[in-house]
Amino acid sequence: MIKKNNKNPKRSLFYYYGVALLIIFALNFLVLPMFTTPETESVPYNEFVDMIANGEVSQVEIQNEKNQIVFLTKEDGKETPKKPSLFDKPQKVYVTSSVGDPDLVQRLLDSKVKFSAIWPEPPSLLWTTIVPIAAMLLLGWLLTRSMQKKMAGNVMSFGKSNAKVYVEAQTGKTFADVAGQDEAKEALTEIVDFLHNPDKYASIGAKLPKGALLVGPPGTGKTLLAKAVAGEAHVPFFSISGSEFVEMFVGMGAAKVRDLFKQANEKAPCIVFIDEIDTIGKKRETGGMGGNDEREQTLNQLLAEMDGFDGRKGVVILAATNRPESLDPALLRPGRFDRRIPVELPDLKGREAILKVHAKAVIMQQPIDFNAIACATAGASGAELENIINEAALRAVRLGRSALNQSDLEESVETVIAGAQRKNAVISQKEKEIVAYHEIGHALVAAKQSDSAPVHKITIIPRTSGALGYTMQVEEGEHMLMSRDEAFNKIATFTGGRAAEELIFGSVTTGAANDIEQATKLARAMVTRYGMSREFDMVALETVQNAYLGGDASLTCSAETAAQIDREVVSLVKEAHTKAVSILKENLDLLHKLSHHLLEQETITGEQFMAILREG
Ligand code: ADP
Ligand code: MG
Ligand code: ZN
Repeated sequence: MIKKNNKNPKRSLFYYYGVALLIIFALNFLVLPMFTTPETESVPYNEFVDMIANGEVSQVEIQNEKNQIVFLTKEDGKETPKKPSLFDKPQKVYVTSSVGDPDLVQRLLDSKVKFSAIWPEPPSLLWTTIVPIAAMLLLGWLLTRSMQKKMAGNVMSFGKSNAKVYVEAQTGKTFADVAGQDEAKEALTEIVDFLHNPDKYASIGAKLPKGALLVGPPGTGKTLLAKAVAGEAHVPFFSISGSEFVEMFVGMGAAKVRDLFKQANEKAPCIVFIDEIDTIGKKRETGGMGGNDEREQTLNQLLAEMDGFDGRKGVVILAATNRPESLDPALLRPGRFDRRIPVELPDLKGREAILKVHAKAVIMQQPIDFNAIACATAGASGAELENIINEAALRAVRLGRSALNQSDLEESVETVIAGAQRKNAVISQKEKEIVAYHEIGHALVAAKQSDSAPVHKITIIPRTSGALGYTMQVEEGEHMLMSRDEAFNKIATFTGGRAAEELIFGSVTTGAANDIEQATKLARAMVTRYGMSREFDMVALETVQNAYLGGDASLTCSAETAAQIDREVVSLVKEAHTKAVSILKENLDLLHKLSHHLLEQETITGEQFMAILREG
């Protein structure tokens, strides 16, 4: 990056030189003398002679060059050592001018005065001036040099990168921290094993894949798995996020890649982990103008580096992405990321295991039924499950408890699914009634059809997400496949809410917006992707763009077919809607009874619901 307002470093340096010099001189000529000069008293020569005669003088220094005599008296005490330094200066020094008295020496000898230097020797020029100035110059030189380097780094040296590649030898994570995902762990264990005993593989002639790509929806533990590999492998672990390669200047990203692989090669065996690789690994543009030069160069460099290094040396490249379909095919060919490790959303067992892993971090009040929570959270990712545990712990704290229990977990599941409760939302009685009939409509249609998931809970307590009420259905066990009947019944259940409103109030509200959306989506998928329509048989009319991120689909058919699809979808939903209405008509008494019950209770559980249903 270029920084503006970079002051000319030379000018400011000279400024500092000047100040420093001033300080040195001030120290030498003002401060130092204050310490070195003793208190002096001038004495006339004749008094001096008298003092000698009286034996009062203890020590004398004749300073011929200054034409003066310096002396100490006995009563002032302290004699100076042979070579007085700055710190043992005499208390008081007497001075008299030398008058060229020829008898002086004899007189002094007679009264046994000591001849010795009195005046402290000033520190040598070397220490007071030359050394400080030299130090100052050296410091200044070092400073300028580092500044120049920085400047050069800023503007001129594209070739060098200041890649922030960091070695994380200890991530503190192991495979034990990753619950479920057994297949992914198995595949990665092989890589860890290879890094531990490369000879075992080399002796057979097996080459390990150079790179493995972790693909899966967000929050399923891809980053966590890579960290766990580092923890298990006990080798250097270079971790960098794809976005860190994205630079302002063309060529910088490529330089970073080069740098990263140079370091990795030096540290082999080691693991290089590139998180969110889709940032740099996107398909390159084919032809046309306006390609992203910088990104392409970075990708090209990455491809070249992956080809360039020796797989047997023990550099394994892991990468993670949730958009595998957008990756450049060149990245995926054998010899590069040839191994693909799916990290899917956890199944029932996996969810239970993940809940248990994260439950270790909090204090729980037994008994806890993890299986029930896992059942209620179909489709949740590991990150969401972790969040559910945390929300439950927060709720326990809020309620002043020291451990969290089952009800915290259940409430937390709903909070994550539907938002927090809005207890003080003001809703008119009329609206409450509508919501109650709407929700019972869903539940009743679901219960009166075969193959639909049992009702777990119905509530008309509003949520912060905007939902005024909802019906929670929980599948028993894991469902991998959905039959046409199940799909159709599901659509009927979606329409059940609106059907109840029509039947009871004779008018409709906006409350069904979400139901409509979901019903349409499912009906559309049935027609275009699942081959469940009468019209189109097994023809794929849509392709899913982004399987792991929401899964938006785009049409792959003519406009004419598109119109036909729309008609098919409409008739499917209409049919389901009619079915829902007829179910409710047949069970009108139940509908009233359940709705009144819900209005009173605000929340009814699956068991209560079923009990009333059985009573009839
Ligand atoms: P990703 O990189 O796939 O988007 P992360 O690895 O960052 O997801 O996962 C986010 C968090 O979710 C992790 O830190 C971990 O606490 C939790 N998590 C996700 N999957 C699992 C799992 N299988 N076992 C335990 N914790 C998980
Ligand atoms: Mg991640
Ligand atoms: Zn509804």
